[in-house]
Amino acid sequence: MAAFRTLDDADVAGKRVLIRVDLNVPMDNGRVTDDTRIRAIEPTVRDVTERGGRAILLAHFGRPKGREADQSLAPIARHLGACLGLPVRFADDCIGEAAEAAVNELRDGEALLLENTRFHAGEEKNTPEFVSALAKLGDIYVNDSFSTAHRAHASTEGLAHQLPAFAGRSMESELDALGKALEAPERPVLAVVGGAKVSTKLELLGNLTAKVDLLVIGGGMANTFLAALGHDVGKSLCEHDLAPTALKIIETAKVAGCEIVLPVDVVVAKDFKANAPHRVVPVTEVASDEMILDAGPATIALVQEKLNKVKTVVWNGPFGAFELTPFDAATVAVARSVAQATEAGHLLSVAGGGDTVAALNHADAAGGFSYVSTAGGAFLEWLEGKALPGVEALRR
Ligand code: AMP
Repeated sequence: MAAFRTLDDADVAGKRVLIRVDLNVPMDNGRVTDDTRIRAIEPTVRDVTERGGRAILLAHFGRPKGREADQSLAPIARHLGACLGLPVRFADDCIGEAAEAAVNELRDGEALLLENTRFHAGEEKNTPEFVSALAKLGDIYVNDSFSTAHRAHASTEGLAHQLPAFAGRSMESELDALGKALEAPERPVLAVVGGAKVSTKLELLGNLTAKVDLLVIGGGMANTFLAALGHDVGKSLCEHDLAPTALKIIETAKVAGCEIVLPVDVVVAKDFKANAPHRVVPVTEVASDEMILDAGPATIALVQEKLNKVKTVVWNGPFGAFELTPFDAATVAVARSVAQATEAGHLLSVAGGGDTVAALNHADAAGGFSYVSTAGGAFLEWLEGKALPGVEALRR
């Protein structure tokens, strides 16, 4: 972590510490239904308050156009207090008089949540006026929200240029895990890329072929590769127009010394629904009225054999239509193998993006991975090899 300034470098005692957090939690009728993201910020808030700092939390919620009552952070402040075991005050604006008064009342070791930063247009536009209005409220800035670091907004990037800036604990763990997985990994590195379409993951595939030793392609996107290689994929989800792109990716990988692993057998059905009658066939024998919905047992065994030979795994996307039983089998089997090898100390494994967390939770495997990122877009941009503005601003 030497590349970034962290809370270890910050003297927070007696200071007003503006902490950018991710509170975009799922809500139902004003109640938080999954508090994973709230629990993730606890180490940072505790660290700051226990060292006598004044924790002032900044976050956005939803995509409001101006002030919209149903996108207020007020209900989350209550949940936050209960979760952190610490009273969390709330100010109904993130800048101006209400915010300044609430900050002035805050004592050392206390916490305050400011209202949704996106109630002001200056947040997403990252205007100097809005950044200054926020900066007035703090002495130092801590970014603990990797999931919003791909956006150069006032509270995710602008503030880092006006106040001394540090990575929070959750940001630090994420950067640490991601660095170990792709920037300075133990080799060989195997990447699993699954999911629906090649078109949404072109940059990601391009970046990974240059960085990893083995690239396992699964899910609907594998069909595009199989079709490009001349296999009949029947009525499978397939982007036939991307055949030249798929062939180019295979060629680039070859030049880069990255081995591409595609399914050798598949589970096919005539209907896209749970428990549809199905059969396992080699990739050469898909009938024209069938669709590929999962990788088959020989493919699972092949991937497991490859896993035995690598030291690092990066995972994004499911192997099949994992929401429909039994087409979750390959995703579940391979995810469990990765989790077991990680728990046995043979692997470092990092997963994230889109449906990946849901797929690994479904497989009951997420807990076994070294790190599972709940950041969607930011994780994918990182896999694409892009610099994230919120992260770059924290570099030493
Ligand atoms: P993504 O968001 O790109 O990671 O794609 C995830 C989605 O891909 C999941 O909803 C899966 O059901 C779907 N998917 C994976 N494999 C297949 C397949 N062979 N046919 C249709 N959909 C698939």
